[in-house]
Amino acid sequence: QARKRFGQNFLHDPGVIERIVRSINPKPEDALVEIGPGLGAITEEILALNPRLQVVELDRDLIPVLRTKFFNYPDFRIHEADALSFDFSQLVEPGQRLRIVGNLPYNISTPLIFHLLAQAGVVQDMHFMLQKEVVQRLAAVPGDNNYGRLGIMAQYFCKVQPLFDVGPGAFRPAPKVDSAIVRLVPHDTLPHPARDLGTLQSVVRTAFNARRKTLRKALAGVISVDQLQTLGINDGLRPENLSLADYVRIADLVVEAKGAGEGTDD
Ligand code: SAM
Repeated sequence: QARKRFGQNFLHDPGVIERIVRSINPKPEDALVEIGPGLGAITEEILALNPRLQVVELDRDLIPVLRTKFFNYPDFRIHEADALSFDFSQLVEPGQRLRIVGNLPYNISTPLIFHLLAQAGVVQDMHFMLQKEVVQRLAAVPGDNNYGRLGIMAQYFCKVQPLFDVGPGAFRPAPKVDSAIVRLVPHDTLPHPARDLGTLQSVVRTAFNARRKTLRKALAGVISVDQLQTLGINDGLRPENLSLADYVRIADLVVEAKGAGEGTDD
């Protein structure tokens, strides 16, 4: 019986499962980690290709089910843990980076993605099943309705590739929403590195807390109209019009101005 609080919708369509595993393309030498294996629908297909798969599952009732089902894979490891606070770097072996996969619980997918982005340095790639709308947000570009904090921060760290859509009928119980598979590949070199990540995050959060307002109003208290002009950014635009590069420039100027302010303190 699926449990709602764990966001459990189990995949049962063999064609969809096969297509997901083909997109992941697991190799025997990969350090693969699955988040939320559930009853093991994707797990089973990956194990056939990579018997060293590790999984992170929160629902303790599923652990014995997984152990029994995959007892003949001695290198298969189950971590009974909350992926939201799990330190994925503990799974990395020297010279390796993780390949993370998961049909994620939709109720926690956004915080989980932020948690994983913070660990992007130890990740080779990630393949996730998400609510289709979340995939659209991840891939959104300036001007899109769905463009915002999630897409900007995902694209700061990763190349975002939506792969294909999956209808509700592929799951039991069927979710109320459409789903999609996305691939996130952390950049080897950040295309727009910020001087201070925390400042970038807070500028983006502040801007999109007032996404209908003009930048002048949305970023009042963060950056002045004069400063925006210095950057050649029109203060009459809205938060959804700025690119990642623009947000990084704003955040860098905020850091610079703060540094200058501190320097003249006494
Ligand atoms: N992968 C399975 C499948 O495709 O059939 C199950 C997918 S189901 C949408 C999400 C899974 O994530 C469930 O097994 C659920 O128990 C697990 N889960 C929920 N919250 C979790 C968390 N915070 N950390 C780890 N696993 C979690």
